[in-house]
Amino acid sequence: MTISNVGGTMQNQYADRSPYLLLFIAVVLTVFSLSILWEFWAEPFLFSTLGEESNDEKWRYVYTTSFFVVLSLILPTWLLWRKEQTSLEMMENLSRAAAVYAQSRDGIMITDHKGRILSVNQSFTELTGFSENDIVGNNPQILRSYQHDENFFSQIWEQVQTEGSWQGEIWNRKKDGELFPVWESISEVRDSAGSLINYVAIFSDISSIKDTQKKLKYQANHDALTSLPNRNLFQELLEHALQNAKRQSDCLSVMFLDLDNFKHVNDSLGHHTGDLLLQEAAGRLKESLREIDVVSRLGGDEFLILVEKVHSQTDAARIAQKLLMVLDSPFNINGRQLTISASIGISMFPDDAKTASILIQHADMAMYKAKERGKNYYYFFKQELSDRATQRFQVESDLRHAIQDKQLVVFYQPQYSLSNGRLTGLEALSRWTHPERGTISPDEFIPVAEESGLIIPLTEWMIEQAIIDWKDLVTNLKSIPQLSINISSHCFHMHGLVSLVKELIDRHDIVASHLELEITETSLMQNADRAFNILVDLKKLGVHIAIDDFGTGYSSLSYLQKFPIDTVKIDRSFVKEIVHQPDVATMVSAIIRMCHTLGLDVISDGVESISQMAMLTEQGCDIVQGYIYSQPIPPEKVTILLQREM
Ligand code: C2E
Ligand code: CA
Repeated sequence: MTISNVGGTMQNQYADRSPYLLLFIAVVLTVFSLSILWEFWAEPFLFSTLGEESNDEKWRYVYTTSFFVVLSLILPTWLLWRKEQTSLEMMENLSRAAAVYAQSRDGIMITDHKGRILSVNQSFTELTGFSENDIVGNNPQILRSYQHDENFFSQIWEQVQTEGSWQGEIWNRKKDGELFPVWESISEVRDSAGSLINYVAIFSDISSIKDTQKKLKYQANHDALTSLPNRNLFQELLEHALQNAKRQSDCLSVMFLDLDNFKHVNDSLGHHTGDLLLQEAAGRLKESLREIDVVSRLGGDEFLILVEKVHSQTDAARIAQKLLMVLDSPFNINGRQLTISASIGISMFPDDAKTASILIQHADMAMYKAKERGKNYYYFFKQELSDRATQRFQVESDLRHAIQDKQLVVFYQPQYSLSNGRLTGLEALSRWTHPERGTISPDEFIPVAEESGLIIPLTEWMIEQAIIDWKDLVTNLKSIPQLSINISSHCFHMHGLVSLVKELIDRHDIVASHLELEITETSLMQNADRAFNILVDLKKLGVHIAIDDFGTGYSSLSYLQKFPIDTVKIDRSFVKEIVHQPDVATMVSAIIRMCHTLGLDVISDGVESISQMAMLTEQGCDIVQGYIYSQPIPPEKVTILLQREM
């Protein structure tokens, strides 16, 4: 019999109120009988035997007797009523339990104390496919999925026996053989004497929760665009591979692959094309490696690759070469043929590092070195790369404090006219006096400042400091030298350079044409259209523009014509060769002539000897700067120099 049947029977009894009616009739009959007894027997007897004077006593006797008669009627009636009430409550509870059992969305199975199935509810049938007829009389093992070992089940039963219940996750098997995960609780049921009578198992299907968990885990560990593992998962897999490699005294290799000029594809053809290219590149990388190797995407155009059981650098080099080759053939994206290349940095376990994060870091450093070599290269990590990186990090961290701590100062190098020998300008060059390392050359800290973004506050400070010094220096001079300031490529392209320069000119009330900004060729060529607009805006302010290091970059004479500039500074590497290399001399001469045709002044940088100066004079160069006249000097020395000039 199922619990729902029991509930049904109890419900009928609950509706039957006849015991109350019978009790009531019994009470009425008793009262009636007593009154008859009183009238026909007690009253005549009492009054005839006791006499008139004991009337009070007689009445007391009557009251007492009546009280006990009434009490003897009320008490059993009340007890009977209480009993009925309790069983009614029990029946109500049972009825409620039966309804829960029948309507519960959880599967419920009741067994006897030996574990033989007695009853299952409707949800059980829906969840497992087993009807009550299929399963009653069987052992719950009929649901066994064989996903758990014997130990798992013995732990469950041990807990049920000691604590009375167990709950947890378990895999069950449906009637059609399909496995499904459930959250199940198993409890003992004991009677009032404490004897075990049943076990009740209640479970709910958690397949959808498991699916969601699986999806979330996948998303957290994979790159959405390429479906490759992301950095998290790569790190985990690498750590696992390292444990294996350590146990088996094996080697492995980590490769950091970065697509060359991918930004250009994104900028010129749009992000959609960029995404398709990344997906195809990811597919090619994956296909070219073994199943056990891991290709992951870190984001952007960066991939991390783990190759296990690589026994030598030669093996790793062969694999890196293969990766470069598979990316080498053109990609067909939306009917357009695209060619890309990549740079790969390689680190090896155990030679280069023992931990996952350091191996990745070292491969990353090596990749930058590969890029420096000209792209489409691979490069193995070397210890000195790490030393250099550590030093660079130190410089960056110290540089952050250098401006506030007034460790930076500006030196000035004079520029002279070749036609009349007069001082025409002062180039401002920053110097860093490090508290421990002493003087650090701008060749070391300017690139660090550019990479870290510190170049922006540094340049702001530099322009203002130079203007303050210069104003001080040139007061009372008849002929005022120009102030030249170097603007790095990063700063040139930053938003707000024009307004910064204007603000400083206004704040310090200087004539704009006294200020010359030195901009490198490379800065102009990085984004020529934008560079043109910035130059136009700067020219509108009235400042002069000089092209610095001319000859070291594109050396394009055509942009001299196109851009609004005033001066060209020939790089000192040319000046150095001008006397001994006739080709260089011819080239310098051609540049000077060309500039003059375009109405531009020419300064030659790094003039160290009289012969160089003589040659430059002969070729018509306008201005020279170099050690032959003076090294860069602090403002107080410039004051002395200017006094001598006057
Ligand atoms: P640069 O703009 O080419 O500056 C000229 C460099 O050549 C200076 O080096 C100067 O000391 C050096 N020099 C001048 N005459 C001679 C010479 O006759 N022979 C030799 N061998 N060298 C000479 P410095 O001061 O070490 O600066 C190096 C570079 O650092 C500068 O090259 C410039 O690009 C950069 N720099 C310096 N200060 C700043 C700054 O405040 N801002 C920015 N953005 N760059 C700066
Ligand atoms: Ca310069």
